[in-house]
Amino acid sequence: KAKKTVGSHHQYYEPAMEEEVTERLTMLRMLRADFALDKLELWYQPQLCLKTKKVVGMEALLRWPHQPGQYISPAVFIPLAEYSGLIVDIGLWVLEQACKQLQQLSSLGCGALRIAVNVSMPQFRSPQFVPAVIEIVERYQVKPELLELEITESVVMDEPKIVIDALEALKRFGIKVAIDDFGIGFSSLSYLQQLPLDRIKVDRAFVNTVATEGGGLIAETIVSLGKRIGLSTIAEGVETEAQLQAILAMGCDEVQGYLFAKPMPAPQLIEYLRQNQGGCIQF
Ligand code: C2E
Ligand code: MG
Ligand code: MG
Ligand code: MG
Repeated sequence: KAKKTVGSHHQYYEPAMEEEVTERLTMLRMLRADFALDKLELWYQPQLCLKTKKVVGMEALLRWPHQPGQYISPAVFIPLAEYSGLIVDIGLWVLEQACKQLQQLSSLGCGALRIAVNVSMPQFRSPQFVPAVIEIVERYQVKPELLELEITESVVMDEPKIVIDALEALKRFGIKVAIDDFGIGFSSLSYLQQLPLDRIKVDRAFVNTVATEGGGLIAETIVSLGKRIGLSTIAEGVETEAQLQAILAMGCDEVQGYLFAKPMPAPQLIEYLRQNQGGCIQF
C-alpha cells in the first residue's frame, strides 16, 4: 500500500485506503445480495480413515460463485462476513445445508458418514446459536454425532468462556467438536485441556513438510499428543503419496487432501461415494 513519511510518523496514503475500504464494502454488498439470492454453494471434501481405508466423512466448505466457473476464495470473503456479522446467517444456512445433506446421505444408505462444518466467533456470540443448531439437527432428524463443528483456536482465544459454554452444551446434545488448523496459533495447548474436543486437525503447514528431512517432527508430535489425551487426529492438506506414507507411519487416524479428493459439489460427492464402493477407497 502507498505510504508517506511525514516527520517521524508513517501515514498511510488515504486515497489508497479509501479505495480498499470501498472495494471491501462493494464486495460485502455483493455477498449479502448473492446470499439473499441463494447463490452460495456448499461443497464437500472427503475425509478418510487410514485403518479401514474408507471415507468416514467430509468437511463442508463454502463456495461463492463469481462468474461461471470462477469462485471468490473463502479466505477473502469469510473475513468480510465475519467482520460484518453476516456470517451468523450464512453459518446457519451452512449448518442447514449440511444437515440436509446428512439426511440425503442416510436415505442413500451412507448413514454413517459425518459432516464437519466450520464455525466462526460471531456465531458463538449469538445467543441463538446453540438452540438453532439443535433445532436444525432435530428438524432434519440427523444423528447429532454425525455433525462435527470445526473451530480454530483464534475463535476460542477471543472469548473462551462463551465458546466453551456453547461447545459443552452442544457436546451434551451429542455433537462432535474438532480443533482446526492446530498448531498454527499461540495457545493451542491450554485450550486442549479446556475444550470438549473429539478431534485435532493437524494444520496443512505441518503436513506439507512431513516428507522432507526432519520436516515431520511437529506433525508427529501433534499426533502422539492427540493419542496421549485420547483425541482422534486428522491430517489436512495431504497432497502426495510420500506425505501419505509419512502420515501413516505416525499413526494418524484420518486424512483429508487433494491426494484423495478436492472439495466438490453435492452431486459429485454422491457420485464419488458411489464409485468408491459406497465409501470404500482403495489406496
Ligand atoms: P479450513 O477449515 O482449514 O479448510 C481447509 C482448506 O484447505 C480448504 O480451503 C480446502 O479446500 C483446503 N485444502 C484441502 N485439502 C488441500 C490440499 O491437499 N492442498 C491444498 N493446497 N489445500 C487443501 P478453502 O475451501 O479455500 O477454505 C478456506 C478456509 O475458509 C477454511 O479453512 C475455513 O477456515 C474457511 N471456511 C470455508 N468454509 C467455511 C464456512 O462454511 N464457515 C466458516 N466460518 N469458514 C469457512
Ligand atoms: Mg476446517
Ligand atoms: Mg483447517
Ligand atoms: Mg484454515
